[in-house]
Amino acid sequence: MTAVIVGAGQAGAQTAAALRREGYAEPVVLIGAEPELPYQRPPLSKSFLEGDEAALPLRAKSFYADNGIELVTGERVTAIDREGRTVGFGDGRRLGWERLVLATGARPRRLGIPGEELAGVCMLRDLADAREIRSRMAATEAVVIIGGGFIGLELAAAFSGRAEVVVFEATDRLMGRAVTADMSAHFARAHAESGVVLRFAHLAAEFIGRDGRVTGVRTTDGRTFPADLVVIGAGVLPRDELARDCGLAADNGILVDATLRTCDPAVFAIGDCARFPSARTGSSVRLESVQNALDQGQHVAKQITSGIVGEYRSLPWFWSHQSDLKLQIAGLADGHDRTHLIGDPGEGKFSVLAFRRGELVAVESLNRPSDHMAARRLLAAGRTVPFDEATKPGFDLRAYQR
Ligand code: FAD
Repeated sequence: MTAVIVGAGQAGAQTAAALRREGYAEPVVLIGAEPELPYQRPPLSKSFLEGDEAALPLRAKSFYADNGIELVTGERVTAIDREGRTVGFGDGRRLGWERLVLATGARPRRLGIPGEELAGVCMLRDLADAREIRSRMAATEAVVIIGGGFIGLELAAAFSGRAEVVVFEATDRLMGRAVTADMSAHFARAHAESGVVLRFAHLAAEFIGRDGRVTGVRTTDGRTFPADLVVIGAGVLPRDELARDCGLAADNGILVDATLRTCDPAVFAIGDCARFPSARTGSSVRLESVQNALDQGQHVAKQITSGIVGEYRSLPWFWSHQSDLKLQIAGLADGHDRTHLIGDPGEGKFSVLAFRRGELVAVESLNRPSDHMAARRLLAAGRTVPFDEATKPGFDLRAYQR
C-alpha cells in the first residue's frame, strides 16, 4: 500500500519519518514543491535573518534514502484522481497511491492593493522569501510591516535598532487572533519602548514607488509612510485547492474529522492546510504551528501503519521569539471569559492564565518557561485549575503539574 505525502514541509516530513518509525513497510513517497530538503520555517523570521542557516534542514539528505523514503523535491502535484488513486504532475506523469496525506501548508495572504508588485514589497513564507528579506536588510533605512501578528512582530524585532520600523495593525491590538488582551498590551509597550512605531487601526491603501521600487505606503486615511522595504505579514490562506478540485470538502482549510481523515477515508489532511474538530474547544480549528504539524503527522502515520482509527487530541502549544520577549503558549484561549496574571510584568516575566467558565484553558508565559512546561503537563493530562484556586495568594502553577 503506497503512501504518498503531498507537501514536504514540517507536517509532511514528519509523517514520512513517523511511518518508518511506526514500522510501515510499504513504499513511502514524499513530494515537495520547493527545491530544498525539507526545512523548518520558524528560524526564517528569527535566527536566519542574523545569518544562521545551519538550523534549517529537518533531517540530513541521507536520512530519506537510509529510511527508504522516496523524496521528490522541486515538483508540484497539480491534480488528484481519487477514483484512479493517483496524483498527477504538470507534465502529465502520474503516481499511484493507496493512502494519501495532504500536507500542503498555507500561502501568505495578499492585500490586493496597487503597488504589491513593486520590488521591495515582500512576504515571508519560505526560504526564498527569507533570503530576499535578508539580502535587503543592510540597505534598509525604513521598513513598514503590514500586520502585527507573530511574523510581523518577529520581523519588527529583527529590524529594530537597524532601521525605522513601523507596524500597521488593522485591529486595535497585537497578535489579536492568538493571545489575550493582557499579553497584547505588554508586547505593544515593549515594542514601542524599543523604538518600533505601532499604528493600530491602520490599513494600507497603496504601495507607492519609483523606478519599480517601493518608496512608501499610503494608508486609507491618505497619509504616506516612507519605506524602502515593506513586508506583508497579514496572515495566511490554507492551500486547499488540490483537495477542492478532487471533490474533497474544504472551507478555509481541508475539512477532516476528529481522526484527521477527509471525507475519503484513504485521504488524510494535516498541518496548516487542515481544519479539524478540536476536542478542547468544541469548535472546528485550523492551527498554524510546528507542534500541530508534528503531532498530526505522527498521529496519521500511526493510523496508516496500524489501521486503527483514533481521535487526535494533542494539546496545542506555540511559541514566538521577539528579541528578548520569549512567548510560549499552552492550550487555546479561544472564548476565554477571564484572565489572571501571575509573576512580574515589570520584570518582563509573567504568565497570563486564561479561563473559560471558571476552568483554566490556556497559559501564556513570557520569559517564564517553567510555567509553560507546567501548563503543558497539566492541560495535556486533561486536568485544569479552577479560577478561585489560581487567584489565591502564593499560587504556583508548577505545584499542579503532577
Ligand atoms: P509547510 O511547512 O508550509 O509545508 C507545506 C509544504 O507543502 C510547502 O513546502 C509547500 O511548498 C508544499 N506544497 C504545497 N502544495 C504542494 C503541491 N501541490 N505539491 C507539492 N508540494 C506542495 N510555528 C511555531 O510553532 N512557532 C514559530 O515560532 C513559528 N514561526 C514561523 C515563522 C515563519 C516565518 C513561518 C512562515 C512560519 C512559522 N511558524 C511557526 C508556523 C510553522 O512553520 C507552520 O505552522 C508549519 O510549517 C506548518 O507545517 P506544514 O507542513 O503544515 O506546512
